[in-house]
Amino acid sequence: MSKIDIRSLSLEQIENEFNKIGLPRFRASQVFDWLQNKGVMSFDEMTNLSKQLRSQLDESFEIKTCIIKRKLVSSIDGTVKYLFEFKDKSTVESVVMKYKYGYSICISTQVGCKMGCSFCASAIGGFCRNLTPSEMLCEVLAAQRDLNIKVSHIVLMGTGEPLDNYDNVLSFLRLVTDEKGQNLSMRHISLSTCGLVERIYELADENLQLTLSVSLHAPNDEIRQRTMPVAKKYGIDEVLKACKYYADKTKRRISFEYAMIKGINDSEENANELCRRLKGILCHINLIPVNEIKERDYKKSDADSLKRFVSVCEKNGFAVTVRRTLGSDINASCGQLRQSASENGVKNRENCC
Ligand code: SAH
Repeated sequence: MSKIDIRSLSLEQIENEFNKIGLPRFRASQVFDWLQNKGVMSFDEMTNLSKQLRSQLDESFEIKTCIIKRKLVSSIDGTVKYLFEFKDKSTVESVVMKYKYGYSICISTQVGCKMGCSFCASAIGGFCRNLTPSEMLCEVLAAQRDLNIKVSHIVLMGTGEPLDNYDNVLSFLRLVTDEKGQNLSMRHISLSTCGLVERIYELADENLQLTLSVSLHAPNDEIRQRTMPVAKKYGIDEVLKACKYYADKTKRRISFEYAMIKGINDSEENANELCRRLKGILCHINLIPVNEIKERDYKKSDADSLKRFVSVCEKNGFAVTVRRTLGSDINASCGQLRQSASENGVKNRENCC
C-alpha cells in the first residue's frame, strides 16, 4: 500500500487519519504545525513525539520534500531563482522577489506545461506531471527557510497551468491560507491562467478572494491562435464571458496579462480592439514587454509602441500598468522558467517522468 502524502492534508484530514489509528486530536495539531510551519523533512525532526510514534507514522505516511538543486541571485535587483528537486528527481523553478511591501514568491504548479504557448520557455520541455499540494508548499517553505524570510504574497505564475491541476492547486491554496499554517491572505495570492473556461467558472463559484490573472496576449482569436494553442479550444469571447462572471461573482478585479510582442500584437489598432473587448469587465491591464527566450525570435515592442498602447488603454478608462522586469539576468522573468537550470541551457529531461 502506498503511503499517504501527509503534508498535502488539511488539519481536519490529519485528524481523521489519526482517529483511524487511535491517536488523539492534539497529535494532529502538533504534526500539522511541524509540516506546515516548521517545514520538517522527516518525522524524526518532530521532537515532541515519542520515537515509537514517529516510526509508527513513518510506516503509513510520507513527507514530501524538495532540495535546492541550484540557486541564482540577480545582481541587478536581488531576485532569487531556485531550481528545486523533488524525490522523484523531477525539478521546477521558483522565484523570490522583494517589493516594498515584502517578499513575493512565484511558484510552479506542474513539472513542465501542456499549453504550448509559443513565446513561453515553460512549454519547451513538454509536460511531465502535476505537482501535489505538498510539493507546491515545499517551494514556499524551502525558499523561506533558505532566505530566512516569510513571504507575504504568492503568485502561481511559474511553470505549469494552475487550472489544469485544479484540485491540487485548490488544496494548496487552502493549506497556505490556513490560519494554523502559513496563514497567508487569499487576497495576496494571484493565480494566472491561459484561460481554461470551465475551470474559471468553477473557480468563481468557490468564491475565494483570490486574484485571477488571465493571459490574454491578443485582442482577437486570429492573433491569439497564432501564439497560444489553447485559443483554438476556447474563443476569446468565451474566455472573457467567463472572466466577467468571475469578476461579478467575486467582486475581484481581473488582471489581464498582455505580453507586448513587436509587430504581432502591439499596434494602436490592437489596443483599440482590446479595449472594445474588455469593456464592462472589472479589470486591470498588465502589459509585459515580451521576455526574449533563445529558442524563439519574438522581440519586445519598442518604447513608442508601448507608450501608444498604454495611452489608448488609459483613454478608454482602463487601469493599465507595465510590468517591471525582475531577475532578467538570471532568466527569472515571466515566461523564462523551465524544468532545468535555464541560465546555461542545461536540460535535465532524464529527470522527467
Ligand atoms: N499557465 C499560466 C501560468 C503561467 S504564468 C498562464 O498562462 O497564465 C506566466 C505568465 O508569463 C503568463 O501570463 C504567460 O503568458 C507569461 N509569459 C510567458 N512567456 C512570456 C514571455 N516570453 N514574456 C512575457 N511573458 C510571458
